[in-house]
Amino acid sequence: MARVMVVEDEPRLASMLEELLTMSGHEVTTEARGDLTVERALVEDPDLVLLDVGLPGMDGFEVCRRLRPQFEGGILILTARGDALDEVVGLDAGADGYLAKPVEPQRLLAHVRAVLRRTAPPAPRRLELGDLVVDAGQRAAWLEGRALSLGSTEFDLLWRLAVDAGHAVPRDALHETLRGTAWDGLDRTVDLRISRLRRALGDPPQAPRWLLTVRGIGYQLAPA
Ligand code: CA
Repeated sequence: MARVMVVEDEPRLASMLEELLTMSGHEVTTEARGDLTVERALVEDPDLVLLDVGLPGMDGFEVCRRLRPQFEGGILILTARGDALDEVVGLDAGADGYLAKPVEPQRLLAHVRAVLRRTAPPAPRRLELGDLVVDAGQRAAWLEGRALSLGSTEFDLLWRLAVDAGHAVPRDALHETLRGTAWDGLDRTVDLRISRLRRALGDPPQAPRWLLTVRGIGYQLAPA
């Protein structure tokens, strides 16, 4: 769920935007004053600031200019002025997008999604689970500092489990990771690779420390 801060001084529009974004699964806070927005956004650290231009205290462009150097989330400017010059000013101020009011709800939501996609932090490439380190960039893993001898398929399986460490990953999802297709209920690929992965981890099959069987679901990499 993405967190969105709506900065809008017109109460009816603010509550309409809040409702629209909440209904589409976002967590929403609102602010009506431009001069309070920078500090609040830095404290609350939302994923996206939806920013009006005409605001009491400080206009949206100035808010954007002050916020941008310190803020990693998205900034989407929403203004009543449909002037092309405003768009240039807004983008130059560091906004990730610009929309002129009135804006269709579906169009607004599409722009919100687009900015959130662009500004989402990159997925982790290296996971450290206690003594076990899995690095997707190097496609290698280490246990207690010792490099594990893994085939490419075992690595894919380990990474998939590591991403959800502490949670059971359904056999279907693991099969999909390895074979790119849904499990037919018969294929033993996942079990075979799990056995190999357990050997590489030095996990005894009867009492695995790392790679747990979750009966009726699939497998789970133990939390650190
Ligand atoms: Ca306004």
